[in-house]
Amino acid sequence: VQPAQGRMSDPSFINKMKSASRNVIVFYGSQTGTAEEFAGRLAKDAQGYGMKGMVADPEECEMDNLGSLPEIENSMAIFCMATYGEGDPTDNAQEFYNWLQNGETDLTGVKFAVFGLGNKTYEHYNAMGKYVDKRLEELGAERVFELGMGDDDANIEEDFVTWREKFWPAVCEHFGVEATGDQVSIRQYSLTLNDEVPQEKVYKGEIARLGSFLNQKPPYDAKNPFMAPVNVNRELHKGGDRSCMHIEFDITGSKIRYEAGDHVAVYPVNDPEIVDYMGKRLNIDLDQVFTLTNVDEEASKKHPFPCPTTYRIALSHYLDVTSNPRTHILRELAEYAGDEKDKEFLMKLSSSSAEGKNLYSDWVVKDRRNISAVLEDLPSLNPPIDHLCELLPRLQARYYSISSSPKVHNTSIHITAVVVKYQTRTDRTMKGVATNWLALKKPVNGIKPKVPIFVRKSQFRLPFKANTPVIMIGPGTGLAPFRGFIQERNYLKKDGKPVGDTVLYFGCRHKAHDFIYQEELEDYQNDGTLSKLHLAFSRDTDKKVYVQHLLQQNMEETWKIIEGGGHVYVCGDARNMARDVHETLEKILIECGNMDKEKAANYVKQMQNKGRYSCDVWS
Ligand code: FAD
Ligand code: NAP
Repeated sequence: VQPAQGRMSDPSFINKMKSASRNVIVFYGSQTGTAEEFAGRLAKDAQGYGMKGMVADPEECEMDNLGSLPEIENSMAIFCMATYGEGDPTDNAQEFYNWLQNGETDLTGVKFAVFGLGNKTYEHYNAMGKYVDKRLEELGAERVFELGMGDDDANIEEDFVTWREKFWPAVCEHFGVEATGDQVSIRQYSLTLNDEVPQEKVYKGEIARLGSFLNQKPPYDAKNPFMAPVNVNRELHKGGDRSCMHIEFDITGSKIRYEAGDHVAVYPVNDPEIVDYMGKRLNIDLDQVFTLTNVDEEASKKHPFPCPTTYRIALSHYLDVTSNPRTHILRELAEYAGDEKDKEFLMKLSSSSAEGKNLYSDWVVKDRRNISAVLEDLPSLNPPIDHLCELLPRLQARYYSISSSPKVHNTSIHITAVVVKYQTRTDRTMKGVATNWLALKKPVNGIKPKVPIFVRKSQFRLPFKANTPVIMIGPGTGLAPFRGFIQERNYLKKDGKPVGDTVLYFGCRHKAHDFIYQEELEDYQNDGTLSKLHLAFSRDTDKKVYVQHLLQQNMEETWKIIEGGGHVYVCGDARNMARDVHETLEKILIECGNMDKEKAANYVKQMQNKGRYSCDVWS
């Protein structure tokens, strides 16, 4: 049995398209699976217009062949491109991005369309989608339909559905084809029950290689995570009703290397309560071993996740059962509603009418209903579990900014994570998958639970020269990477190296509750590692005090450091804090650097380009 993701045996996607009689290829640049899912839906749509689609990972394709696409009649390439981090391509689209930047390939005659996936809370909104759309045209390709852009901060599903609704009629017009109405739900995977398969052949949550959780072999990466023992898992908050964990993963003997500023990814497991509920509600034997096999023999993905496995493992390790189900899932589920009213409701919920969109936004998004809440609230809905397993997206790894320096901790990786727990409007308690799972991973009596991890390199780096001054702005868990930076500067200082000014801005709600790593930070201040420690406690006074207010107060100090070639770092909340800090920096440049608004904005851009202003933010 092959793992879920195998490399295409023939990287020439043109040959593959020809041999499988496909004329539409949908490439995806995907980090968390959404772009890949959208690509799958577009490829599936094609048959409703007399076309035949296939999905392709650009990392597995010889993209130089794109210029040969017109050899196939009525052909088109669609790109679902997510933007990651600071306007970057996703890992699997990095090579394609380099190729686009450097390539001179003539794409005359290639028809294309792009849907970008981004998040408006980030500065470089949909940078990749915009770039691919523009660059393909520059290389001579012909745009079939305007660039679509989805905003993950609002309702990306709605953005996608709205774009797609206009996209296909444009395709029909362009190619002179007609909708065939052939859009009945077609199962992508066929089910086999494997009653005879021995236990050792059953996947137990491994990402790719069978048995890799037990039989560990370096190098460790996203497909082959390291099972890291948890050395330490302690509470950082001293009061209040939230929890923030300091966790230390042991990487002894793993050959994993990291730098301060890198991210560590954790593969979490879903809450067994939800899995058990789904088993009971759907009346299935969770320990049944099964395999889902792609009915399309040409597809590069033979299985939606590693198979054979059990329903319990699939629902625990491989499937996302806690995010909002997308409209295509609800539409496909509608046929399994015993009650006509529930069926109609699901059809309406998943329709692209204004009423449908409003209903989806309200009942699914605002009420934060996950699949188990949908099953709970629509009792006549009884989908077969294998179809549900086909429809649900893959459970994704969660990333954490590493909060240690390898110079000080070369055999462990530290993280600082706030436990996500909140009430929904329907009064359900929602628990973040990874943080609530990690909260249970505590060493007891010398027995250390293990967590699958891998390290992802980042661009968030201390200046090359230790004597370059730095300003670090990190409220809340945004402090995480700076703990690593400070450890590193402290190490260098003790080693006798000249270390530049190290200024930290930290903010939290209450000094007595969530001033995380207080003692460590005060020690660093006392021994001079931190030249300045500016603290903003937002809820200890009548008026909110935030890090950017202090930055503004200290504008002369800030300007002096910037003017002197210092680096500025921001980490934490992307939605509000990072933007507010950015604005404050521009204000400081205007006031202290005698710049106008435009000059200040350009100055910050220049700093970004030179790696002197870096953000590590998430929402
Ligand atoms: P999930 O199950 O993923 O649930 C989170 C989702 O719940 C949110 O996306 C949001 O949609 C929803 N939600 C959360 N709170 C509410 C609310 N009050 N009301 C309504 N909906 C809500 N996190 C850290 O704690 N520390 C870090 O150092 C850190 N570094 C990161 C670095 C990067 C590069 C990235 C991308 C993220 C980082 N994160 C960090 C966030 C982290 O990856 C996870 O997103 C976070 O821990 C939540 O994961 P979870 O599985 O527990 O929650
Ligand atoms: P936090 O404790 O909520 O906030 C830290 C401090 O930042 C508080 O004092 C807060 O003040 C302040 N703050 C709020 N808005 C600000 C702004 N616009 N500018 C500057 N400071 C501001 O932080 P956290 O729990 O560590 O989380 C940090 C951020 O990461 C969160 O805001 C959240 O967006 C994100 N996060 C997301 C997830 C997820 O599930 N995806 C999980 C964890 C964290 P007040 O609260 O008093 O206003």
